[in-house]
Amino acid sequence: MELYKQHQIRIYNSLTKSKQEFKPINDGNIGMYVCGPTVYSNVHLGNVRTFMSFDLIYRYLLHLGYKVRYVRNITDAGHLENDADEGEDRISKKARLEKIEPMEVVQQYTVDFHNVMSKFNCLPPNIEPTATGHIIEQIEIIKDILDKGLAYIVDGSVYFDVLKYNETAHYGVLSGRNIEDAIHNTRTLDGQSEKRNPQDFALWKKAKPEHIMRWPSPWSIGFPGWHLECTAMSTKYLGKQFDIHGGGMDLKFPHHECEIAQSKACFEKDPVNYWMHANMLTLNGQKMAKSTGNNILPNEIFTGENTILTKTFAPSVVRFFMLQAHYRSVLDFSGDALEAAEKGFFKLMEAVNNLSSIKAGKISTIDLNSWKDTCYNAMNDDFNSPILIAQLFEAVRFVNLLKLETETLTQEDLTHFIKLINSFIFEVLGLENNVKKDTSAQLSGVVEVLIKLRNDARANKNWALSDQIRDELIEKGIQLKDGKEDTTFTVN
Ligand code: AMP
Ligand code: ZN
Repeated sequence: MELYKQHQIRIYNSLTKSKQEFKPINDGNIGMYVCGPTVYSNVHLGNVRTFMSFDLIYRYLLHLGYKVRYVRNITDAGHLENDADEGEDRISKKARLEKIEPMEVVQQYTVDFHNVMSKFNCLPPNIEPTATGHIIEQIEIIKDILDKGLAYIVDGSVYFDVLKYNETAHYGVLSGRNIEDAIHNTRTLDGQSEKRNPQDFALWKKAKPEHIMRWPSPWSIGFPGWHLECTAMSTKYLGKQFDIHGGGMDLKFPHHECEIAQSKACFEKDPVNYWMHANMLTLNGQKMAKSTGNNILPNEIFTGENTILTKTFAPSVVRFFMLQAHYRSVLDFSGDALEAAEKGFFKLMEAVNNLSSIKAGKISTIDLNSWKDTCYNAMNDDFNSPILIAQLFEAVRFVNLLKLETETLTQEDLTHFIKLINSFIFEVLGLENNVKKDTSAQLSGVVEVLIKLRNDARANKNWALSDQIRDELIEKGIQLKDGKEDTTFTVN
């Protein structure tokens, strides 16, 4: 029997602002859409956190035996600066600055994104559609919204009529904003006057002569509005109504609010049953963001080329650090927090390495079922990874007691225990046991002790001992060098 039949998940739905029992539209099958990156620069660790949060969710759903169609798009057109309807396209701007083709920008940063995702052991989605690959679908949706009288054309651009829509529906249903609050922050910028109301948003924009990413449409040669691509791609691959839509908290408004309005206008249905939003990664208490420069790139953590950390950290340690926080909590990035996470990570992996040396006993003295239930209950309760991790540390305690034979498990229970630990750590949390402990500090400490003993021996004219220490260290590849002030060493 599939595990999901025994486990009722509860998901915090941003739409209802409450935890709800999760029931997929089609039993055993789940459609999940997550807004992907805008590929105009390298993804920073904040972006990674959101994608990792959904990777955890995806992994747990798979673990429970659900058949999941996971769609995560690549935004390669239409996302203008300041998330607004005016300004330059982020990708064209980068192309202009670097004097390369927009599609070269897209390719470069899509490849970077994929590399980063695989370093962090995030599973690839089942479909990864691009905005530029779905211009026709976007145009069809605009035609439909125009037919329904919920959009209007001004000089080749098409705008969604928020006030008209709000007469029969509720614009603001997700973000809780009322229509007066929902005025885009760009109202004073050039071109805003085209809109009947500042709340309206672009479905199609006529391209200015300098706008190089452009496609023909019934209204003008231009490009689609940013919000439209996700409506087009999610409904194309998951249907007009699907189970889960995710993204970072900052996408709730206007992006997801607009998606709901577009879908309801076009298909007359609420598109998504469970809206999920991952919270932000902060640095020095401020949101990590490309625009402010308050960010760190994954590669800068692995290579140590940064001004924030004093040492490097492996991807799996960073992953563990992130999963120690619940996806709906803000998480602050710091060297101290990473070092604490690294200690915990090694403790966990040491326990995993010790599993094979545990001997089975005649009886089971540990209540395995109760431990297992607590682990599953944590994940069933809105994917609470920090509680699961706390339970895994409880398992580390069990492993130590089992090794000492203070506690015992029968062969059957032991096999089950090992299987559970492995599936929670590797399958569900997606950690990897491939990180070498950096023991260089300990090695230096040990050599310093030997240097001191040798100095004592020399002070006592015990040349035999001092030579022995020096020669044996050479045999181990450690060369002592006596300077005027002190003795140093090199490792060959
Ligand atoms: P973008 O490429 O800017 O569209 O962002 C890609 C994803 O990263 C979106 O889901 C954002 O909500 C998310 N994101 C951006 N900044 C952060 C952050 N500091 N912490 C967590 N997620 C973020
Ligand atoms: Zn989106």
